[in-house]
Amino acid sequence: MISHHLGLDYALNPGWMAPYVAGLSVGKARARRCQSCAATSFPPLRVCTCGCLEGDWTDLPGTAQILFRTTGLDGDFGLVHFDGATTKTTLRLQAIPATETRGVIAASGDDLPVLCLTALTGERDG
Ligand SMILES: [Zn+2]
Repeated sequence: MISHHLGLDYALNPGWMAPYVAGLSVGKARARRCQSCAATSFPPLRVCTCGCLEGDWTDLPGTAQILFRTTGLDGDFGLVHFDGATTKTTLRLQAIPATETRGVIAASGDDLPVLCLTALTGERDG
C-alpha cells in the first residue's frame, strides 16, 4: 500500500436551500411548506412528495421529539420529528441525556452548517 495525502478545498453553494442553511447557523429551523398540499418538510424538500415544486419558507419552533437514538464511536445520533414538520430526519444529538425524549435545534455557527439537536433548557421551567 502506498500512503498519499490528498488535500481538497472546495466551496458549497447552498442555492435554493440558502434560507435553511442560514437558519442552521443561528439555530433556527427553517422548513419548506408546500403551496399545494401544505406538507412542511424539515430539512426542506425541493420537490414535495405530492409532486409540487412551489413552496414557502416557514420557521418552526425548533423543538423536536426523539423517536429513536443510537450511540456510535463518534457520538449520539437520532431519528427525530421536529414540531410543526410532517417529515422526520436523522441528526447528531449533542449532550442530550439518554433519558430525554425531546431536544431543540442547536446553532452550528458560520463555519459549517450542521443540523444538530441539543438539550432543552427552560422549556419545562416555564
Ligand atoms: Zn405537497
